[in-house]
Amino acid sequence: MNEYDSDRIHNALDVELTGNPKDADYIIVNTCAIREKADQKALSSLGRYKHLKSNNPELIIGIAGCVAQLYGKKLLKQMPYLDFVLGPRAIPNLPQIISEIETKNTRKIDISFDIEEVFEVNPFHEEGRVSAFVSIQQGCNKRCAYCIVPTVRGNEVNRPMEDIVKETVYLLSKGVREITLIGQTVNSWKQDKYKFGDLLRTVGELEGLERLRFTTSYPRDITKRMVDAMKEVREVCSHIHLPVQSGSDDVLKLMNRTYSRQWYLDSVNRLRDAIPDIAISTDMIIGFPGETDSDFEQTLSLLDEVEFESSFSFKYSPRPGTVGEKLAKTDSIDDKISGERLSIFQEKQKYYTLKKNLERIGKIEEVLVEGFSKHDNNYLFGRTTHNRIMNFEGGGNLVGKTVNVRVEEGLPNSLRGVIPN
Ligand code: SF4
Repeated sequence: MNEYDSDRIHNALDVELTGNPKDADYIIVNTCAIREKADQKALSSLGRYKHLKSNNPELIIGIAGCVAQLYGKKLLKQMPYLDFVLGPRAIPNLPQIISEIETKNTRKIDISFDIEEVFEVNPFHEEGRVSAFVSIQQGCNKRCAYCIVPTVRGNEVNRPMEDIVKETVYLLSKGVREITLIGQTVNSWKQDKYKFGDLLRTVGELEGLERLRFTTSYPRDITKRMVDAMKEVREVCSHIHLPVQSGSDDVLKLMNRTYSRQWYLDSVNRLRDAIPDIAISTDMIIGFPGETDSDFEQTLSLLDEVEFESSFSFKYSPRPGTVGEKLAKTDSIDDKISGERLSIFQEKQKYYTLKKNLERIGKIEEVLVEGFSKHDNNYLFGRTTHNRIMNFEGGGNLVGKTVNVRVEEGLPNSLRGVIPN
């Protein structure tokens, strides 16, 4: 979502990017507030640019995204060199903000939620990209106890199907082959009689589209229509990112995730019954306030039961104004214990990721080639339908194409293969 927002910021300004901050006329730090560490990192990175103003007094420095939304005016007070603060929903107002700063020599803050255009058609698009995001939803109506997203991104707003199709058609005309539909709870998307499954079918049929992905799904919003579309539309990839956050019913309840462990497992089974080879990845929060040893054991046993392909796992960190923050005042988990639990979880996950990669050896995988590997120029890289990275030898003419690759090696985080003769 943040990557997509960075593109929207670039698009709104319609300027060239420079790799060197010293050459910049505008420096905008786009931020994430999901965890305390990301939030602090964003703020400290801003400080690195303030000295550039002494050489270039015209330089405009701004902060955008969820940290901007969260701290608002405070940031202008704390950082006298900052010219503007811009919330994620206010990105379309950026050109006007810049123009006022330039003409009136003022400082600006826009953290409004109530602007009409929360989506813009035809976002910035860098030539040569094989894969692109299309935002179908802003904000979130769920209220997970640990999460700051509804506070900083507002309630759920679904983008009309017509606009989603228009943007996708535009991207396909620019050579994009893979679209990832993005939203905070992407599969809760709806518009009148249309539900997410209908959207998958409509976008999946667009000419030139090779692959369709979506993220992030909410377990309670999985429907038969969605699963049927995933099974029947050839372009929809065999992968779902389905955050569970904990394997313990007690913790899920405290987190206000609105489903139980069994509900989640039933959803996994429904998906696997329909698409037996589907890859399932997840998010896990370790050390949520109140998490006991036995709760953590249940998280480990859920991992054993599902055998996730991969997971993003983090130590819980309290976010301002959330229910989790209140719980942490009385029931926080010792940092050392959370750290130990996180390492145990991650070690187990590594085992399953490698196991899944080793199981692919000898199989022929369809790979959409994205470019040359950063580590070795002789190798191309791309993704399989299961969202695994595959490296293999080949020429630049294959970039943007789907090729069959036989898996030769299963590595901890990727596959290595060859194009069969
Ligand atoms: S579903 Fe929960 S975790 Fe996801 S964005 Fe909404 S409130 Fe946050």
